[in-house]
Amino acid sequence: MTAKNKKKRLAVGFVALGCPKNMVDSERMLALIAQAGFTVTQDSDNADVVVINTCGFIAPAKAEALDAIRHAVNLKKKGSVKKVVVAGCLPQRLGNRLFNEAAGIDAIVGLEHRDNIAQIIEKTCSADKPVASLSRFHKILYDDRTRFRITPRHWAYLRISEGCSRRCSFCTIPAIRGKIRSKPLPLIIAEAQELVASGAVELNIIAQDISAYGRDLKSKLTLPALLTELAKIPMLHWIRLLYLYPTGVSEQLIETVADCGKILPYFDIPLQHINPHILTLMRRPHSKDRLCRLIENLRTKLPGCVLRTTFIVGFPGETDARFNELLDFVKWARFDNLGCFPFYPEQGTPAAKFPHQVPDLVKKRRLEQLMLAQQQIAFEKNKSRIGNSLTCLIDSVNKNHSATGRFFGQAPEIDPVCIIKNCSTAAGSFLETKVIGSKNYDLLCERIKY
Ligand code: SF4
Repeated sequence: MTAKNKKKRLAVGFVALGCPKNMVDSERMLALIAQAGFTVTQDSDNADVVVINTCGFIAPAKAEALDAIRHAVNLKKKGSVKKVVVAGCLPQRLGNRLFNEAAGIDAIVGLEHRDNIAQIIEKTCSADKPVASLSRFHKILYDDRTRFRITPRHWAYLRISEGCSRRCSFCTIPAIRGKIRSKPLPLIIAEAQELVASGAVELNIIAQDISAYGRDLKSKLTLPALLTELAKIPMLHWIRLLYLYPTGVSEQLIETVADCGKILPYFDIPLQHINPHILTLMRRPHSKDRLCRLIENLRTKLPGCVLRTTFIVGFPGETDARFNELLDFVKWARFDNLGCFPFYPEQGTPAAKFPHQVPDLVKKRRLEQLMLAQQQIAFEKNKSRIGNSLTCLIDSVNKNHSATGRFFGQAPEIDPVCIIKNCSTAAGSFLETKVIGSKNYDLLCERIKY
């Protein structure tokens, strides 16, 4: 039996956790595993090897990863799984300590070793003691081409850089993923062309901070210049901007979006907070005035644009008055979509040691209050869309003869959707619809007949 045939008999299950950046890593690892001759199985509870690609960014993500690891280790004890391999942010953050946090792991794989996943699996299968593939440094800029896609055929994530050079006081990402490394333009274009050739009509541009793209490149290429090049790709219809740092939303970027129909007027700008004292403590150098002007400017230059943001409540030093300032701002700004997290004091971050930590119960109450205020805004916005025509990208056709789709203001996975009744149009098609109602956060639409 050849080595390749022997490998073919080994079934590898894959558990992909974490954010879209991690999903790109998962898709790349899956392709490398398949290319090496292993059989990729969806039944990870009965696989020879289970690979868990983890997130370790905040406490709930770490807890989710540890749950998945313990589940796989239990299956190993029962004999249905032989080896458990843990990759991604959690091993990068915890290093060899992870072997103690979840006993029974056979291999840990740091971020720098992503592209060696097949060789690591092979080594683990023949090793009688745990294997650790870890590096402390963050130098590698991955080539993300050739992926085994987890996302549907018609949309994909396109990562344009890795790491982050900002130093927000609450964030573990720079320590886990290192400083920014932008991909060169030809590599991004080649990857985008590959994704489009495989059926993607929508590309979601991701990075820790996409607005910082190019700062570390000798060419000093900027995000607007990159987007202009991407927009030239035939058959690519939607380009969506996720994760913009507020000060990175330049006039040039706004003009580029206004001039190019393919770049959606959808801005995902995590603001984190609005109170000046909290922003200073967070080490985020923008003033409340500047943020208000940014929102007004976007809505003036791009009427009808969709704004998404994220906030942290219960940051150390957030008094009732400072929280109320945030709440008032949310009511004023009327974001289309909003996410909110309680502050997690992550080990190794400056904010974890700040005085005036906020009790968990207060954080929970503030989060509920903020999301309730946003719910009212979202429902009012949905009502105001009734009667409007929307071009929807169909994501799936459901059993009850309805389809699920999204208009340009709805990003995949995180935003609400459009439910289109009496529709059997194939996923990946664009359809003209009219909004006829709403159901919670979702829009109810019908097909426009010509
Ligand atoms: S910009 Fe985002 S990824 Fe970078 S340090 Fe701040 S919160 Fe973390």
